[in-house]
Amino acid sequence: MEDFAPTGAAALWEFDDGMTDPARTQLQRWVGTPGMSALARHMAGGLAIKTSVLVTRVRNKGDGWRLDMDSPDQDQSASEGPFDALVLALPAEQAAPLLAPVAAALAVEATAARTAPCWAGLFAFDRRFNTPFEARRFGADEALAWVVRETGKPGRTGSEAWVVHASSAWSRANLDLTPQQAADALFSAFRVVVPEAPQPIWLQAHRWRYAFVETPASSPFAWDDDLRLGLCGDWRIGARVEAAWRSGDRLGAAMRSAFG
Ligand SMILES: Cc1cc2nc3c(=O)[nH]c(=O)nc-3n(C[C@H](O)[C@H](O)[C@H](O)COP(=O)(O)OP(=O)(O)OC[C@H]3O[C@@H](n4cnc5c(N)ncnc54)[C@H](O)[C@@H]3O)c2cc1C
Repeated sequence: MEDFAPTGAAALWEFDDGMTDPARTQLQRWVGTPGMSALARHMAGGLAIKTSVLVTRVRNKGDGWRLDMDSPDQDQSASEGPFDALVLALPAEQAAPLLAPVAAALAVEATAARTAPCWAGLFAFDRRFNTPFEARRFGADEALAWVVRETGKPGRTGSEAWVVHASSAWSRANLDLTPQQAADALFSAFRVVVPEAPQPIWLQAHRWRYAFVETPASSPFAWDDDLRLGLCGDWRIGARVEAAWRSGDRLGAAMRSAFG
């Protein structure tokens, strides 16, 4: 991440988690700036990328990979290809149905992995308020797993904002709430751990159905040389963005050797 700092796409964030152990109170993490998507946008510079399309089918009749896609902007579905190789960097649960018709063994691997959902809440306030911590993690059996003063991170501007992540257990138990119901419930839970918070001027919740890997695959990536088909993503290793990076990096090295 140090490499990204000079580009402005990342910065070191120092925060206090308010824990009693003085050695642990001042923590450091790298974050994307001015938001997390800046990192991916920076890395994607110069690449031809198509966004906001859903790949509904992948197929290969021996002349290369073709993708069938649905786009919300177009009435008709589209198809692209042929391509020499295909990499699926998707959550296991979303890779599995695409793999099943074309690579049964890889589909089995993807089906064995398991990812927990996460309801995330964002609350905006018209004023800053004092709290004993800037960010704090909670136990797995609590409603909230993590709360953070978003505006305390480097590069963030605008009104006071906090982000919360519900625990996997809470998110699973409340998967079918509407976003409004989830936002209200998450704010009630937030108020328990941050009683200093006033009424928000704005609140929103988003459900990430495949958020945190619980049961990863047994190897950091998969590459089938005959099919010219690769799999990578955090689900190959564990529930961190570093895992996604390492998995893709390892797959890239394997593909460079395969392509000579
Ligand atoms: C709310 C939240 C907070 C998090 N916070 C942290 C954190 O603080 N630190 C940390 O290390 N990690 C965090 N993570 C985890 C981190 O985001 C993941 O580990 C990382 O994004 C995984 O990267 P990936 O490339 O494997 O998959 P993803 O980032 O999930 O990327 C896969 C992409 O493929 C797309 N896709 C899926 N199916 C299709 C299809 N059929 N067609 C087209 N596109 C498709 C998805 O929409 C998605 O954009 C967080 C995750 C969530 C949900």
